[in-house]
Amino acid sequence: MHVHAYAAQSATSPLAPFSFERREPGPHDVAIDILYCGVCHSDLHTARGEWAGVTFPTVPGHEIVGRVSAVGGHVSKFKVGDAVAVGCMVDSCQHCVPCKAGLEQYCEEGMTGTYGGQDRTTGEPTYGGYSDKITVREEFVLSVPDSLDLAAAAPLLCAGITTYSPLKHWGAGPGKKVGVVGPGGLGHMGVKLAHALGAEVTLFTTSPGKEADARRLGASHVVISTDRKAMKAQARTFDLIINTVAVPMDLDPYINALALDGTMVLVGAPASEHKSPSVFPLLMARRSIAGSGIGGIAETQEMLDFCAEHGVASDIEMIPIQDIETAYARMLKNDVKYRFVIDMQSLKDEAAQAA
Ligand code: NAP
Ligand code: ZN
Repeated sequence: MHVHAYAAQSATSPLAPFSFERREPGPHDVAIDILYCGVCHSDLHTARGEWAGVTFPTVPGHEIVGRVSAVGGHVSKFKVGDAVAVGCMVDSCQHCVPCKAGLEQYCEEGMTGTYGGQDRTTGEPTYGGYSDKITVREEFVLSVPDSLDLAAAAPLLCAGITTYSPLKHWGAGPGKKVGVVGPGGLGHMGVKLAHALGAEVTLFTTSPGKEADARRLGASHVVISTDRKAMKAQARTFDLIINTVAVPMDLDPYINALALDGTMVLVGAPASEHKSPSVFPLLMARRSIAGSGIGGIAETQEMLDFCAEHGVASDIEMIPIQDIETAYARMLKNDVKYRFVIDMQSLKDEAAQAA
């Protein structure tokens, strides 16, 4: 099928209109008319060629919400018109140990990214959600619960699941003190979800202007992370810290803020490494540093259902696709409250005018 999109042709070229063919839905595929796509910092790392292995052209976008436009003959879970979503992966081997455990993101053959991957059916590069249509195998399509606003649900597909998964894995809940570092797309979802899970939440931010918002999002405490004294005062406090920061940083002040047996989970994926953390603060309180990548398909559905039940969604600023470069520039200045979401009607209108 013919698809309209926005792509970066190189690490230095701004995103611009691009069209390409996607596979027609096979027996196990769902074809989706894309309505909204969230703008993740990973899209920006990719479009600018910051990570190793980025290939061009690239069509970013892995926070996709839309409606089913066609289904293959063997599809049983979805029908035309259903509100559905696609996150960061569109396929995996389905038979390795992690895949069998519902942890497709850790597939031993490598998950197939929604963009920047290789289609397991056609061998073609995968192109993401800054586009008007997508074809995805049924197993990687999520149901959007009725009560969720479709645009505000889009960021749940990456920012939501990437914070929900470590919060669940490391037991965030009543009686636990959770810190969230970096109130951007991931961080604001981390605060909302940790709060909804019943934990006592502290937000670490470099932006003093975000304090009032932090409390509205569900944080009981706010720490300005550039204030050394305030950071020192957090010593031995947290059971869990979710660190979403997208640039290299000094991890030591956060390690000191962990309680005995506390864990800091790195989910931010900066283009170059953090400074190596100091060893003594780790071993003197049996602290851990861990990492976590998105979440499996079953857990992503669980997270969507949890959000519907608890009235949680993303705080979004809707943009037309033509403003994507401005959105990236604002993201780099930490000027986003708290996730840009592309209204894909803007792409459809542009394509119709050009035709
Ligand atoms: P974002 O919206 O740009 O938010 C990042 C936040 O980090 C900013 O809002 C900012 O908040 C804070 N920050 C920026 N510079 C900082 C600094 N020097 N020191 C401390 N805090 C700083 O980005 P995002 O979309 O949430 O993505 C965050 C990172 O996660 C990216 O690297 C992305 O690629 C990665 N990611 C990983 C996964 C995964 O599976 N692990 C999934 C999705 C995304 P303040 O206002 O506090 O400064
Ligand atoms: Zn993402």
